[in-house]
Amino acid sequence: MMQNVDVAPKSLQPYVEHVGDEALDELRSLAAPLRGARVAHINATAYGGGVSELLRSIIPLYRSFGVEAEWFAIPGRSEFFEVTKGFHNALQGAEYDLTESRQDTWVGHNVRLARHVPEGFDYIVVHDPQPAGLRQLHGRGDAKWVWRCHIDTSQPNPEVFSFLQPFIQEYDALIFTMDQFVPDALRDGQRIAIMPPGIDPLSPKNMALPSNVSSQIMAWSGVKLDQDLLTQVSRFDPWKDPMGVIEVYRRVRKEAPGTQLALVGQMALDDPEGWDIYNQVAKEASGDPDIHVLTNITGVGNMEVNAFQQHSTVVLQKSIREGFGLIVSETLWKGTPLVAGRVGGIPMQMPEENDKYLVETNDEYVERILELLGDPRTRQEVGTRGRAHVRDRFLITRLLADELRLLGSLD
Ligand code: UDP
Repeated sequence: MMQNVDVAPKSLQPYVEHVGDEALDELRSLAAPLRGARVAHINATAYGGGVSELLRSIIPLYRSFGVEAEWFAIPGRSEFFEVTKGFHNALQGAEYDLTESRQDTWVGHNVRLARHVPEGFDYIVVHDPQPAGLRQLHGRGDAKWVWRCHIDTSQPNPEVFSFLQPFIQEYDALIFTMDQFVPDALRDGQRIAIMPPGIDPLSPKNMALPSNVSSQIMAWSGVKLDQDLLTQVSRFDPWKDPMGVIEVYRRVRKEAPGTQLALVGQMALDDPEGWDIYNQVAKEASGDPDIHVLTNITGVGNMEVNAFQQHSTVVLQKSIREGFGLIVSETLWKGTPLVAGRVGGIPMQMPEENDKYLVETNDEYVERILELLGDPRTRQEVGTRGRAHVRDRFLITRLLADELRLLGSLD
């Protein structure tokens, strides 16, 4: 019933190019006590969004140490995912009408899923609110249970949080992306670990692409190579403010005619709201040949996202609320300047010297973008600093070390 997601094997050694021998040796020694252990990661979707991105890279790295890691994605009907999308927004602070029928939908599906929790695992890591009931509804068994929260739960909707809290408290440890995201009610009596995620520098999304390849991909996508390009790559989600991006672009274009905009968005199975927003965006963009609205459904996969991030003159991440925002590290890793919202995990991904590119208002977005469009040298400096910052702090090898350290300490 749960989908055991297939991932390609990987070895650790090629990461040496980016992180050096010492970091790899540290990983090997952290993994040694876990050799032969069985670790299951359970999340809501095999593709779409930051969590599946992380798991696709990290599961094979666990295996490279002889840890028997598996990834399971839960099934679910649209009714269930509509409720969990509501929970997701509510945990980030939105209003939500937590009716009895919505509670029943979530609990009922978690009860069904609990019957299919894979057996024989020593550690079970459950991601985000969708399957968060599994620990209580299945029982501990012989496993250590960890709940990994990827969203900003610093000021959760109290009703939804109180509903989920008894389920969350059952876990042996909780992982949050940032200390600020830990809800006050969980601070006492819970084992809490703080781990920002990280990107995989060797994945098709992040590997270095020869510039003629990225140009070719741009041309294939309809982008004009001789005009500046602003890009935002995000799910079509109100928190990512795609309509605001169009507004900023229109203002930028008044001063910098010919600038193009690409809105690249991924449609995820657990995100029914995405289609409505996509339709709004497509309607708003229609009639402007310099706005490119592209999705995975029309063939924009990881390599294309990579090319957009590499080729763009300036990338935006106009988030209003954000968990970590993996997309920020992905962009900076390409050495591309980024102007982004000062929210969630975004600021910690920006080097201090790039602080002025963390903004709040549309005016600030327009101003900073225009400044960067007119100044190739600053673009290069900002980009170089961004890449160095990601290399030091936000590569997947650092996340793997954090996870191994936590699991190894649970016995
Ligand atoms: N992404 C993608 N294609 C798209 C849009 C997004 O592959 O068209 C990926 C993006 O590269 C990143 C992830 O989806 O790896 C988004 O993660 P993030 O943490 O930024 O946001 P989330 O969607 O989890 O809120």
